[in-house]
Amino acid sequence: MISKKEKLCPGAPMKRITNSNRSAGTGLISYKPSCSINENQSWPRKIIHIDMDAFFAAVEQRDNPKLIGKPVVVGGDPFGRGVVSTASYEARKFGIHSAMPAAQARRLCPQAIFVKPHFEKYHEVSVRVMSILHQHTDLVESISLDEAYLDVTEHKFGIHDPEVIALLIKQNILAVTKLTASAGVAPNLFLAKVASDFNKPDGLTVIRPDQITDFLENLPVRKIPGVGPKTEARLLALGIKTCGELAGVSASFLVEKFGKTGRWLHQTAQGIDEREVEPYTESKQYSTEETFEKNITTLPPLRAKLEEYAEHIYCGLKEEGRMGRTVVVKVKYHDFELITRSFTLDHEPKNWREIYQIARELLEKKTLAGKKPVRLLGLGLGSLHEIGKREKVAQRDLFDQSELLTEMKGI
Ligand SMILES: [Mg+2]
Repeated sequence: MISKKEKLCPGAPMKRITNSNRSAGTGLISYKPSCSINENQSWPRKIIHIDMDAFFAAVEQRDNPKLIGKPVVVGGDPFGRGVVSTASYEARKFGIHSAMPAAQARRLCPQAIFVKPHFEKYHEVSVRVMSILHQHTDLVESISLDEAYLDVTEHKFGIHDPEVIALLIKQNILAVTKLTASAGVAPNLFLAKVASDFNKPDGLTVIRPDQITDFLENLPVRKIPGVGPKTEARLLALGIKTCGELAGVSASFLVEKFGKTGRWLHQTAQGIDEREVEPYTESKQYSTEETFEKNITTLPPLRAKLEEYAEHIYCGLKEEGRMGRTVVVKVKYHDFELITRSFTLDHEPKNWREIYQIARELLEKKTLAGKKPVRLLGLGLGSLHEIGKREKVAQRDLFDQSELLTEMKGI
């Protein structure tokens, strides 16, 4: 039986880049591409997803040799209400992960070294990484400080093989920042993202068009970005464990069970994702949020907060000549469960009160606020566009999938 990794590139298993195959002295990595160079005809689109490995923690380890090889947790106060932003791979072995309360991380690993985040530094590194990506294509969509998609179907210098491009990017990032990144190469964004996560850290995974079905066959549904523990549980209850099984269920059944999310699940399970890399830097959502000193247990103070946020958002956007139609309410309960609920208007809101009214309805009807203590409340407006015009591009799946996002990274 061959392993999944071998199946990805039959006859030429994907190479894992390690120190051992870096050329001595030069810092360069010697590498022989595992797939042939002339594959242009079989790639409808060539998408690369780059994801820095344990980014914040890796930067801290790079800059402080005493932290190398140690469980490092970047985040808030482990003796207060801090949250883990990033855990080093050594810390992850103890079960520590992003968005976990720092106090819990401390209990899991008392010897962990807690470091406060240095965002300015991470931002500087991120700018360098993004500029490396822009050397290859202008179609770069940065998702966060440490993550971006590239469409390299047309490469600036005419390199055809996307695997070679991904490798060059990884080498360059390492040379410039002394940090490793993982790369996923695939014909669309969904698969590229799953691929980058497949062999972390310092991974490079390629899913060629003819490998998609095999790759998805045994991939657990939870690996689909956007499927959180709740959706996973619902799928498992229906006897659906893998993308292969999900693809075998009819779209109408999934729509019946999950609404419009069902259609998305059905398409995704078949490896279909038509989204394009959107190289826009303007934010797609204008939002504000607050973590409270003390959990809020009743609705009136939360309503007052929403009023305040709605006015701030409406006025802020108007000043910029922009507006949005999707109202998003974010609630984190005392137990750290995080949910977002959204509603999209068919028109621009006329004033901040209209935003407030919708936000209030979402809060009161679609969340457990008032019944369950609330630790954080946020309000955002998405589907942003210039006032008087519809948004030019389809929004990223944030809003469509908002029901699914029960867990988010605590960065
Ligand atoms: Mg990362």
